[in-house]
Amino acid sequence: MKKIFQNFFKVFFYILFPKICFHCEKNLEYNSNDFLCNECLNKIKLINGLVCKKCGVPLESGGEFCYQCKNSKRKIYFDFICGCAEYKEPIKTLIHEFKYRQRYYLKKYLVDNFLIKWWEKNKNSLPKIDIVCCVPMHFLKKLFRGYNQSQLLASEFAKKINLDFKFDLLIKKKLTTSQFKLSKEKRIFNIKDAFMVNKEYLDKIKDKNILIIDDVATTTETINQCAKVLKEAKANLVFGLVIARDSL
Ligand SMILES: [Zn+2]
Ligand SMILES: [Zn+2]
Repeated sequence: MKKIFQNFFKVFFYILFPKICFHCEKNLEYNSNDFLCNECLNKIKLINGLVCKKCGVPLESGGEFCYQCKNSKRKIYFDFICGCAEYKEPIKTLIHEFKYRQRYYLKKYLVDNFLIKWWEKNKNSLPKIDIVCCVPMHFLKKLFRGYNQSQLLASEFAKKINLDFKFDLLIKKKLTTSQFKLSKEKRIFNIKDAFMVNKEYLDKIKDKNILIIDDVATTTETINQCAKVLKEAKANLVFGLVIARDSL
């Protein structure tokens, strides 16, 4: 009996507020637990093939490292970065909604379907992780937006796999323009020396392996600058895991 009532309310609720696909806005089934229709789900490109061993960008024609990592004079501080999916539609829309439009409830979906699935597949080939952290947001920006999407993802991820999460391991000391609007060169300059290690942890990260979680990596300079201060504080390995890997 209870179940009949539950279903009745589900259908009633659905009539008032139909569920639609976040990307193409097609109606979803009333009992769907997804945010995307099947067609859009099938468009997601998980990164499964060959990738650059340093920056995680998919490699079309083999090799160990991408052209950028082999030829760039930029100093790289992180050990490696991995991405779960390519930064294309419909992932772009989901991340945008999560990041800028207060759709916090997408956190669980993004963590379970991307970060955790990636982790289950790759955990045995990874070094031991001592601390998980997030890319910090400047306190004024966080005040304005109300939340830090990287922190939400990292905390959910760490909780699910039982790792130590330090949300305040890093501090963003420089208020920067959104990377999203800038060219590659400007992005690298914009984020330079923007972070510092929280003084409380300075003596606690020596020889530790640290995993930084973020939503998207494009130039990889944000994670690189985080890695820089962690390595200066004597961290052993620093690597990044992002939901989506873009390249400029
Ligand atoms: Zn769709
Ligand atoms: Zn690379």
